[in-house]
Amino acid sequence: MPLYRATSIIRRQGSLIVAATLLALLSGCLARPPQPPGAAQCLAELNSAGVGFEPIVVPVAANGCGIANAVRVRSVGAGLDQPVVASCGLAAALARFEREAVQPAALRHFGQRVTVLRHFGSYDCRRESTGRDRLSQHAHGNAIDLAGFQLADGSSVTVKADWQRPGPRRDFLRELARRACSYFSVVLTPARDATHHDHLHLDVGPYRLCGG
Ligand SMILES: [Zn+2]
Repeated sequence: MPLYRATSIIRRQGSLIVAATLLALLSGCLARPPQPPGAAQCLAELNSAGVGFEPIVVPVAANGCGIANAVRVRSVGAGLDQPVVASCGLAAALARFEREAVQPAALRHFGQRVTVLRHFGSYDCRRESTGRDRLSQHAHGNAIDLAGFQLADGSSVTVKADWQRPGPRRDFLRELARRACSYFSVVLTPARDATHHDHLHLDVGPYRLCGG
């Protein structure tokens, strides 16, 4: 093969590689959710609060689902019964709620700490169950469904079993549902409707509703 032809093939392949790389970078940028203001500070807050987490990327889907500043969280002080994929803002709110509200209330009501938060998950690409035609805050990782707590002695408090039954477990849950409004913008309880009979929906989205 003449030298000039070999050189031209190499040049062409080189251009193709450059073009492919640019395209991959560009599509990566387009799919990556824009980072919200304070994204870096939020991650720093998780670090200083001792939250067990790692940053991840949850791209924006065509239907609008996706998480800006996403993290995978294993613990927020107390452990989580399963890792959760959520926005950093939700993880930070959950960590503050755990430290300032959950643990002090557990010590007051039961004389012991909460060791595990039980939940039904955060990120879920779905629309609201309210009948309004908009994405649920779960679709942005801004909501978590909290099902209950495990205490240091291994016993459990669950929304499903204890929300209605009079006693210290019910008082603990109802106190936390009230306190949660200081940390989350929307708090939905079993008082809301049958779909919430077994969890507290806590979210840091743009709407405001306390205990409905
Ligand atoms: Zn929910």
